[in-house]
Amino acid sequence: MKNSAYWSKLTNSLSPYIPGEQPKSTEKIIKLNTNENPYPPSPKVIEAIKNAADEKLKLYPDPACTVFREAVASRYNLKPEQVFCGNGSDEILAFAFAAFFENASGGLPHPQSILFPAITYSFYPVYASLWNVPYKSLPLAKDFSVNSEDYLQDSGGVIIPNPNAPTGRALKRKELTDIASRLEKTKKVFILDEAYIAFNDDPDSGSMIPFINEHPNLLIVRTLSKEASLAGLRSGFAVGSTGLIEGLCRIRDSFNSYTMDRLALAASAAAVLDTAYYDETSRRIISTRNRFSKALTELGFSVIPSQANFIFIMPPPSSLSAAKWLVTLREKGILIRHFNKPDIENYLRVSIGTDGEMNIFLNACKGIIGRKA
Ligand code: PMP
Repeated sequence: MKNSAYWSKLTNSLSPYIPGEQPKSTEKIIKLNTNENPYPPSPKVIEAIKNAADEKLKLYPDPACTVFREAVASRYNLKPEQVFCGNGSDEILAFAFAAFFENASGGLPHPQSILFPAITYSFYPVYASLWNVPYKSLPLAKDFSVNSEDYLQDSGGVIIPNPNAPTGRALKRKELTDIASRLEKTKKVFILDEAYIAFNDDPDSGSMIPFINEHPNLLIVRTLSKEASLAGLRSGFAVGSTGLIEGLCRIRDSFNSYTMDRLALAASAAAVLDTAYYDETSRRIISTRNRFSKALTELGFSVIPSQANFIFIMPPPSSLSAAKWLVTLREKGILIRHFNKPDIENYLRVSIGTDGEMNIFLNACKGIIGRKA
């Protein structure tokens, strides 16, 4: 529906985010379109959910999310007051836009625009529009890397995913530190979205969580959807200075005090503590990604070097268009993602599956290229 007489002006003005396809049945489908983890969650997580599924469900959950907060704090050597928990990182990001970025509804002068990359997670402009936060999107370099110096200017704040989506490229810790320090001069917030950081294998990149005590304006947002194989649970957390965390709590408690249910809290706490299990699944995904990046390059694809659990690839120019690749692979039961947007319409994003799934994908690619040649 395009509009309705009952909608507010705000509702009318929105262009909501469109998530990747979730087929009704995943039977016979190889799902490489929404960056889910191909491995199951830790057995300890399933056990925690079973143990929490009891009559206590008649009671509201703990609004402070204590078990999950404490688990994150102990894993990352922080205080629980430096941790915020939420119903997926999308929700935390939405709260963070409202909590830290000034909106333009308060009359003149307009607040300064926030900054994010022109090619990035497409939910950012959606949150900005929802909260009426002015923004500027800054172009990427030709090789799709984020130009970190561009963010060393006066602004209303910055949000960047590291690694970036859908390109998979990561910034170095030094570049992120410089952005945080520059923003701190004007007391503006830097939101670093580390949705895919567990799949980084560049020693100069990696999570900025160990540095939050040095940067009171740095909020790091993490999701359990990818690294902990829990997309179906909806869970994430953010870490930062106590002032930032209290800001998020103020927004949450003006909206819905119980964003995380009892099962999700128990499962999330178990997940962040089972580092042995998840280090192994992340290691496997990294090695599959590196192997398949090489194999696809040999087939004639341009593969952007990725630090994430997906790769961003341009099919060989002599083959089909990216849009046709999407449809042809769909017919073979393989789902990937194509963004029909300027500068990236020739690219495809492929989530990293198991070795078996990626072999099927690779063989399908060989078949398509062979058929065209
Ligand atoms: N940030 C980025 C960069 C993402 O790609 C995603 C997943 N689509 C999210 C945040 C949201 O993750 P979730 O809401 O599942 O925690």
